[in-house]
Amino acid sequence: MISITHIDKVAFIELNAPPVNALGLKMRQVLAVTISELGDDDKVKAIVLCSALPLFSGGADIIEFRTGAVWDKPDLPELCVAIEKSSKPVIAAIAGAAMGGALEVALACDYRVATPDAMMGLPEIKLGLLPGSGGTQRLPRIAGLEAATTMILSGNPVKGDYALSCGLVDALFESGQNFRTHVLDFAKAVSREEDPKRRCADMIVIHPDPKGFLAAFRDKIAAKSKNLVAPERCLTSIEAACALPLDEGLAQEKAGFADLLDTPQSLAGRHLFFAERECTKVPGVDRTDRPRDIATVAVIGVGTMGRGIAITFLQAGFPVTLVETTKTALEQGLEDIKSHFQRAVQKGRLSPELAEAFTSHATGTLDYSELAETDLIIEAAFESMNVKRQIFEALDRHAKAGAILASNTSTLNLDEIAATTSRPEDVIGLHFFSPANVMRLLEVVRGAKTAPDVIATAIAIAKKIKKRPVTVGVCYGFVGNRMLEPYFREGSRLLLEGATPKQVDDALESFGMAMGIHAMADLAGIDVGARVRQERRSEIAHDPTYQVLQDKLFELGRLGQKTGRGSYLYQGRERFEDPEIVQISSELAERHAVVRRDIDDQEILERCLYPLINEGFLILEESIATRPGDCDLVWVNGYGFPSWRGGPMHYADEIGLSQILERMNYYRNTLGAYGEMWFTPAPLLKELATSGVTLAAHFDAKKEKS
Ligand code: NAD
Repeated sequence: MISITHIDKVAFIELNAPPVNALGLKMRQVLAVTISELGDDDKVKAIVLCSALPLFSGGADIIEFRTGAVWDKPDLPELCVAIEKSSKPVIAAIAGAAMGGALEVALACDYRVATPDAMMGLPEIKLGLLPGSGGTQRLPRIAGLEAATTMILSGNPVKGDYALSCGLVDALFESGQNFRTHVLDFAKAVSREEDPKRRCADMIVIHPDPKGFLAAFRDKIAAKSKNLVAPERCLTSIEAACALPLDEGLAQEKAGFADLLDTPQSLAGRHLFFAERECTKVPGVDRTDRPRDIATVAVIGVGTMGRGIAITFLQAGFPVTLVETTKTALEQGLEDIKSHFQRAVQKGRLSPELAEAFTSHATGTLDYSELAETDLIIEAAFESMNVKRQIFEALDRHAKAGAILASNTSTLNLDEIAATTSRPEDVIGLHFFSPANVMRLLEVVRGAKTAPDVIATAIAIAKKIKKRPVTVGVCYGFVGNRMLEPYFREGSRLLLEGATPKQVDDALESFGMAMGIHAMADLAGIDVGARVRQERRSEIAHDPTYQVLQDKLFELGRLGQKTGRGSYLYQGRERFEDPEIVQISSELAERHAVVRRDIDDQEILERCLYPLINEGFLILEESIATRPGDCDLVWVNGYGFPSWRGGPMHYADEIGLSQILERMNYYRNTLGAYGEMWFTPAPLLKELATSGVTLAAHFDAKKEKS
């Protein structure tokens, strides 16, 4: 777990607890004892805390947050105080990442040295917490109020150079073999000083106007931190650092941390944290399934999605070949990609050299034979089975053996696409979201015959292009769009029953959705949904009111933002209510004998969210998604579901499954034929609600069994 080496009266404590040197109870106990013993050892003049792993430490063991062991003695705040109180100077030598509790331990040391590429951060706010082991008290004293507030409130790490400039570290040494020699020299120099201890308790936060600064900071983040509890607690704690002695500030911080630990927002944050780590574990895919080498990429169809996908891969350093049906479309696509990078240069987000390099890596062709050596080919052409069939037949003829053939289809049956080739095991869905170069979500669609190493490759590639991969099975709409369907259906139906688009959207946005459903439909284009429905008429024919309003808007040419009118009126991107929508809704309601009435916000939320959750239960029952957290990641990363609520399935557990079941049944019984059509509770929802088991507990038990 740790090893101790003595060189020239300097004791090196080397952490060695793979994978991340987590600061769980055992590690804390060992460190506390070691620091105390070395403190009492006359032969030791200085202590260095360093790591044998490629990182310093990932910080607290957050499984302890769940089990309560986080408070077992010595807890992390106590360990930090013990380091601070050691009679010997302690130097943290940071190479690689020092995150959360690890940085707090380093802050309790007298000195910090690091490599230029070391990453140091306090990401607790991302878990709905505050840094509870002295981070809010020591960082402002050491690195200054402005740097500390930005780091704590953003949760983002800083690198060595910045850390040196703000005083967070005292020296930078290049990583590699000489790092340790430099650290040793540094420790020896420090130990020769008359009073080598540099206790935080003796420091104050130096700033001309801490109150004014924090008030302005609070205003600046107000919109972003709406609904969140952790930012205010972080700010209050930093305020305490400016006003109180260290020990009083630490006590206040610890109380704040304990309060936040039990909040639903922190539970949601930790749920997503674990979901992100779990989502790359895919049943049937294991370590023996080595990812295939991907050095070259091709994208077929350079429309909205193809362009975004190409940009994503170019930015990650891949050469990309683009394929179109005409020379004009191809040139236009290449031109658009070039302009994208030029705009990034103009906005100062990209260097001209990189823009030039990315652009020069994009080439085009109309000829499939030029894809003969390509490793990964992603089709993003029109959403038509005929078009996809032709493309995959051509790919089957021209692509080399072992090339991965991917489709970005959002609704078509991947197995049918795969069957058009002689190598369905190499076919996979890579479902990007629009804009593909911005949205983090990537649904990796596993066909019935997709080979495990192809899935492993998709997951490995997702990491390289900085996407969050969630592996899903084949069904209409996969996970995201399938859950969207009932959500959107209810959002539209409510307009027939008497709500307005603004009322529906306001209720959803107050709940925390990034954008209301009608604003979202206007943004995506009313025509997109209408075209998809045209293909599925037979499946939805049993409900004559199904999306009639959306179809009407399509018929009227009200296609959303792009035509300046959809469910709203637009001036630029600003939306305004349109009284005509009420009139159209009333006429349609009358035609379909839908009774109009006042609808309150609670009904809007229940009607939109509970069927969405119910669909999630069906998806889990059918094993289209592996675990509830996968559905949550899809909705948080792809559909603007508030992360502080943990995603729809986590939220379902929070409000209680029996409550959802009860309300599903209520609407089933009170909405007449419509209710009977659409409000049938999923069997798994019924089973768990009746037996009083949460969805999370049900899946935990399932995992333990397997
Ligand atoms: P688009 O109409 O903007 O672009 C399609 C492009 O494909 C056009 O440039 C067209 O010329 C080209 N094309 C058509 N047939 C071709 C062929 N045989 N060979 C080469 N190129 C061909 O469409 P889009 O919105 O980019 O959608 C593309 C795919 O991505 C569809 O399958 C769609 O369902 C899926 N998708 C779209 C979105 C979205 O929000 N637009 C999101 C996720 C997935």
